[in-house]
Amino acid sequence: CGIVGYVGRAERTQDHGAIDVVLEGLRRLEYRGYDSAGVAVLTDGGVASAKKAGKLANLLGVLDTAPLPESRTGIGHTRWATHGGPTDLNAHPHLADDGKLALIHNGIIENFAELKTELLAKRATFVSETDTEAAAVLLADEYRNAADVEASVRLTVAMQRACQKLEGAFTLLAIHSDLPGVVVAARRNSPLVVGLGEGENFLGSDVSGFIDYTRRAVELGQDQIVTITPDEVVITDFFGKPAAGKEYHVDWDA
Ligand code: GLU
Repeated sequence: CGIVGYVGRAERTQDHGAIDVVLEGLRRLEYRGYDSAGVAVLTDGGVASAKKAGKLANLLGVLDTAPLPESRTGIGHTRWATHGGPTDLNAHPHLADDGKLALIHNGIIENFAELKTELLAKRATFVSETDTEAAAVLLADEYRNAADVEASVRLTVAMQRACQKLEGAFTLLAIHSDLPGVVVAARRNSPLVVGLGEGENFLGSDVSGFIDYTRRAVELGQDQIVTITPDEVVITDFFGKPAAGKEYHVDWDA
């Protein structure tokens, strides 16, 4: 029910690493209610993730025992289960593309069963009972099909193509080990806000997700995709057409 994303330049991450930012954001978003929590970060050449049913404290317990490496790119999720019970396995992130891609989702993918059938026919494997995993596996499939697309925008294009096929309500955030310093996100019928920083940028299901770090926010419109890097925020529609967001200042006290 809560979503946070972070990318920062190396010098910014000396003050606060991706995991710090993401966990702080999830703590701020706890008021929305949830039954599980999880995080994923990009490491040298891979994705590291941890997820756990129950309160954020349970996830913190996992991270205490098995800390994730420092990173400048991360995503975090609190789940309110709709498809598949509140178990560790059904918690987000969901991994695909042989563990190189991690995806988190708030909302419901209405056509997940059809998508899953199509993807299973292509020999994809599923490990959870969630609707979300169909989006993760679809995104990985689109990513493989976009091998001809320039590397820096390949995940963005794959997200656009995946979203053209997804029905329902979703805020999606994805990272891929090919693309350090990039988080790609999408929204339809579900909220997503960008937080603008200096040498770092943020994503949140609402501004509470990054209020400790910046007050400059950009609200995304319906059916939009946003790609954030430490120095750039690029918004398009689901067909790659450039779109603009509206910047505003968050003036309430957190
Ligand atoms: N439908 C997804 C699930 O059950 C996401 C739920 C949410 O919004 O947290 O895993």
